[in-house]
Parts: sequence; structure tokens; C-alpha cells
Amino acid sequence: MRALVLREHGDVLLAQELPTPVPGPGEVLVRVEACGVGLTVLNYMGGRSRVHAEKLPRVPGHEFVGTVVACGRGQEAAMAGQRVMAYFYLSCGACDFCRLAHEPLCRYLRGQVGVATDGGFAEYAVLPAFNALPVPQGVDPVLATAIPDAVATPVHVCRRARVGPQDAVLVVGAAGGVGIHMVQVARVFGARVVGVDRGAEKLAALRSMGFEAVDAAEDSWTAQAREAAGGEVTVAVDLVGSRTTMEACLDVLAPRGRLVVLTTFRDVTFSASPARLVAAEVEILGSRYASRWEVQEAARLIQQGRVQPVVSEVRPLESVGELASKLRQGTLLGRAAVVP
Ligand SMILES: [Zn+2]
Repeated sequence: MRALVLREHGDVLLAQELPTPVPGPGEVLVRVEACGVGLTVLNYMGGRSRVHAEKLPRVPGHEFVGTVVACGRGQEAAMAGQRVMAYFYLSCGACDFCRLAHEPLCRYLRGQVGVATDGGFAEYAVLPAFNALPVPQGVDPVLATAIPDAVATPVHVCRRARVGPQDAVLVVGAAGGVGIHMVQVARVFGARVVGVDRGAEKLAALRSMGFEAVDAAEDSWTAQAREAAGGEVTVAVDLVGSRTTMEACLDVLAPRGRLVVLTTFRDVTFSASPARLVAAEVEILGSRYASRWEVQEAARLIQQGRVQPVVSEVRPLESVGELASKLRQGTLLGRAAVVP
């Protein structure tokens, strides 16, 4: 099969012919129809990921969708022919966190698809059956690549931060792969939503989808965001994850406000005043990926047309490098995908 292989950390992937993998017990073989390209995979390729970054060579790519073409011994043959999407975390499925549907906190986590095992930048990939979740009927496979991470992660954020109709949600990095779906999912949860990003094109895209949009390049962006939120921001979701943005988000929050943090850059810290946390009962919440149930909820939102997947570039498999540079420059709206 054709595959892109990461031999050393960086943006360079080598196109190679590899033997088609064989599914073992409890696994399925997926013929990949499309695989998403986002910043998470680039951070891993660059060696900036926290776990299992050392296991090279590796076929990266975790946001893939495809058809089950073979099942390992012990697997229900019923999965054959089914269109599935990859659940990112290689959770055990049996520990207390997994049984409570908090699979990203699994006590025996084996790592992630495309990091600890080969992923979807290839014609075929093997998945544990546990990680092969059904794609709903009628959902296009390229658009479905947005579901298991870019749409599911926002579903988890909204549940973590208890987002509801009483909330005004600020999303920093609102036109990126997760951001463009974060604003939509927060709206489905009933909130008023303000997106913050840079660049006229990205701001125009947010506005065309019916969102208030504020330019992060302006010094007064926090004041503008508060005004656009109707005076009070109750939830701030920071997808940029710099010290500046996290501290600005904390400052802008109203009493009982929640700051949601999703980034895991190794060397970034930020300061928070305990007096501010106490006086306004402000909360800081970490949000880690999504449960399998939340991925399926994300799929239902797409199937029902309540969230529109934004996959703005679709290219052949070998174009991951070009897409990577666009992502790094911040010129890509939403997600990109490659098709083997
Ligand atoms: Zn577990």
C-alpha cells in the first residue's frame, strides 16, 4: 500500500510502499477514504507531543474515515463493510474511567492512533474494534474526518464547562480546525458566541456563519469581545494557548466564568490571581479530547445538519507537506483532508 512515513521529527514525510497491515485479534482493517490534517498531527510530527513521540518510523494521521475490509479473529464479522471513523485514544475500555465514559483519562492508556500505532496517511490502517466508531448514513467520508476530533472536542468542552442558553461563549482561535466547529457546537448548546481570530478572510467566514467576530490583532480585542458578548463573557475557550491569550481570557470573564484550556505546549505557563478566582468564583478547566459517546454525539450533530463540517482543502495523500505549511502560516480555514 502507499503510505507517508515519518522517519524523524519535522514536517517531512516519505512516500513509501509498505505491506498492507493485517488485523490481529480484536482489530479491524480499514481502507482509508480520507484523513484530516490539523495542528495536532503537526505538533506530533514536530516532536512536540507529550507521549510516545519517540516511536519512529511511524505513519501519522489520526482523523481518518474508511471502510472496514477485514476483521481479526474474534471480531464480529458484522463490522465488515461498515464505514467507520477512528477514535483517537487507545484506551483500555475496562478501567474505572473507561467504564464511566471518560476514556481519555484511561488508567492504561496505550497512547494515540497515528502516534503509538500507524495512522491514516496511508491506503489502509488497522484499528482496535474499540476505536472504530460507525459513521452515520448519508455523511460524506471527507466531511466525516472532522467528526472524531474537530467536532467531538467542542462537544466535550461544552459539557465540561456546562454551556447553556444563559452563557456567552468566547472562542479564541475561532476559525481554526477545532475553533470553526467550537463556535457552532456552543451555539447548538444554546449559547451566544463570539469568535476571535486574525485575518480578514477568517473573520468574514465567521460572520458569514452568523457569529460575532473580533480581530485579535487589535489591542482592544478583549473589550470588543465583551461588548459583542452583550456585556459579559461567561465561558472563554482558548484554542491558541499562549500566556497572553490565557491571561486575557481570565481577565475578560464575568463572575462564575469558566476558562477552558485545551492546549498542551510543554513550556507554556500562565499566572492567575487567587484573589480573582475567589472574588468572582472564576474556574479554570482543562479539557482533554472527548469520549467515544461524545464522538457519536458529534456525528449526530453533523448528520442532523446542526453543525456544518468545514474541510476547506481536500488534496491527494502526498500533499500533507503543503497543507502543513498553510496550517503553520495560519492561512487555512477550518480543517484540511487528504485522500489516498
Ligand atoms: Zn481504561
